[in-house]
Amino acid sequence: MAKVYLTRHFHFSAAHRLHSELLSDEENERVYGLCNNPNGHGHNYDLEVTVKGEPDPVTGMVIDLKELKDIVEKELIVNVDHKHLNHDVDFMQGLVPTAENIAIVFWNRLKGKLPKGELYEIKLYETPRNIVIFRG
Ligand SMILES: [Zn+2]
Repeated sequence: MAKVYLTRHFHFSAAHRLHSELLSDEENERVYGLCNNPNGHGHNYDLEVTVKGEPDPVTGMVIDLKELKDIVEKELIVNVDHKHLNHDVDFMQGLVPTAENIAIVFWNRLKGKLPKGELYEIKLYETPRNIVIFRG
C-alpha cells in the first residue's frame, strides 16, 4: 500500500547549558566553547515531527493533524517552551541538552503515543544551520 510521510512543524524557545559532568571545567570550556557559559543561553528551536502511514480509506488522512498537534504539544512543547532544559525539565535531567540528546528524548516520549501511523522522524533545528534528525 501507499505509505505517506506527514510532517507537522512546531516551535519552542528554551535555554540550556552544554556541560558534561564527565569532563573537567577546562575540558568543558574547550569542547563546548560559548555554549558552556555558566548561566546558559537560549535558542529558538524548530521541530518537525513526521508520521508514516497509509491514508485512511474513509478520511484520507494518515493521522488527524489536530490530534498530532495536541499530542506533541502535551508530551513535548509545554514541557520545554520557555524553560531551562538543564533545570526545569524532568525528562532532560542527567543529559547534556545537545540537539542530539533532545531529539532522542523527544522520540522516546512520543513513541507509542500516536493513535495512527508510526513515528518516522524527529527533526530538530537548534538554529537554521544546525539540524539533527533521529529516526529511532
Ligand atoms: Zn546552545
